[in-house]
Amino acid sequence: MLLSMKETILVVGGGIAGMETAVQLKALGLTPVIVEKNSSLGGHVAQWNRLFPDMTPASKVLEPYDEALKEVDIYTDTEIASINSLQKEYAAVLSNGKTLRCKAVVFATGFKLFEAEKKEEYGYGIYDRVITNRDLERWFDTRSDERVPAKPAAIGFVHCVGSRDVKAGNSQCSKVCCITAIKQAIEMKELFPDTEIYCFYMDLRLFGKKYEDFYINAQRDYGIHFIRGRVSEVAETIDGRVQVKAEDTLSGKPVKVKLDLLVLMSGIVCDRANNELARSVSLPLDEDGFFRSLDNIAGVTRTDRKGLFLAGTCSGPKTVPETLAEARSAALQVYQYLKAKKK
Ligand SMILES: Cc1cc2nc3c(=O)[nH]c(=O)nc-3n(C[C@H](O)[C@H](O)[C@H](O)COP(=O)(O)OP(=O)(O)OC[C@H]3O[C@@H](n4cnc5c(N)ncnc54)[C@H](O)[C@@H]3O)c2cc1C
Ligand code: SF4
Repeated sequence: MLLSMKETILVVGGGIAGMETAVQLKALGLTPVIVEKNSSLGGHVAQWNRLFPDMTPASKVLEPYDEALKEVDIYTDTEIASINSLQKEYAAVLSNGKTLRCKAVVFATGFKLFEAEKKEEYGYGIYDRVITNRDLERWFDTRSDERVPAKPAAIGFVHCVGSRDVKAGNSQCSKVCCITAIKQAIEMKELFPDTEIYCFYMDLRLFGKKYEDFYINAQRDYGIHFIRGRVSEVAETIDGRVQVKAEDTLSGKPVKVKLDLLVLMSGIVCDRANNELARSVSLPLDEDGFFRSLDNIAGVTRTDRKGLFLAGTCSGPKTVPETLAEARSAALQVYQYLKAKKK
């Protein structure tokens, strides 16, 4: 039984989670409306160049949504001013002045990249040759960033920047940055075969399909050096390079290398700008600020509030395939919720 097309469902956030949720809701006969605060859809994926594990261009992953969302109402440059719970539905007041009555709300508000300048000791925003994973993705796209030298002799990648770091306010692992570091290291090695590349890591967390292959290839085929140990000091040298000190905890020896580029693997943190929105509908947050799921096994896309659902990284770090799977699950949960209400 298809539900009435009049069943409007608000999808907050137009990243890949929100877009996929909307596509699936439409296929289930519902009427999704996407509200996105930025001027375009795509969220973080639109900022990446090629995606692990298949090195698929991010643009190719996003492209099909142009067609698939053709008949979906989308409000860009729009935020949610408030969401009020009525007897059988919700009324969302949008920043464009419109009020949207909807039967359910799917939050797909995503994450924020940790602000690397907060880890002053790594020198982001201070030293010219220190950039982030996001900056490097942009450079892969545009090949224009004066901080990236034309012929680097040595490049370093620092893992766990703003993740697994209580002092930085985020004790959790971001899940995607070990594999991103290795992906980016290989991409740089392909562009600059003579460059020495170092990855400074605490642990390597490579849990996904094909991820281990990246690591093996990085060592065997590309000669990338993996140094287990926290970076203790980054300083600018007189000739404008960066000197990195770390302790190799496997050999027990201190390491000191001079680099032409240092790339910080900024992690996934919650977007605190959405805390107020969550509070306004009494949605609980986890200790790390992400939206709290009903439970973390069978109820990841559900919440303890009737008619409110979650999709993607608003509830914690996830890869694109995990985000897509959740978006599909969230759409199905909405459908089942509405069907049960009709009985
Ligand atoms: C450096 C890095 C590289 C990565 N590379 C890969 C990769 O190669 N392969 C892979 O599988 N995964 C990768 N990931 C993970 C991938 O980015 C995420 O899985 C994906 O972006 C999650 O999508 P999302 O829609 O949940 O969140 P987001 O991409 O963050 O999208 C959320 C959207 O919601 C909007 N929004 C937020 N709040 C509001 C609001 N209140 N009102 C309206 N709109 C709002 C935002 O503007 C944004 O458009 C990477 C992650 C990082 C950090
Ligand atoms: S995925 Fe790797 S780099 Fe990212 S937080 Fe976890 S251990 Fe650190």
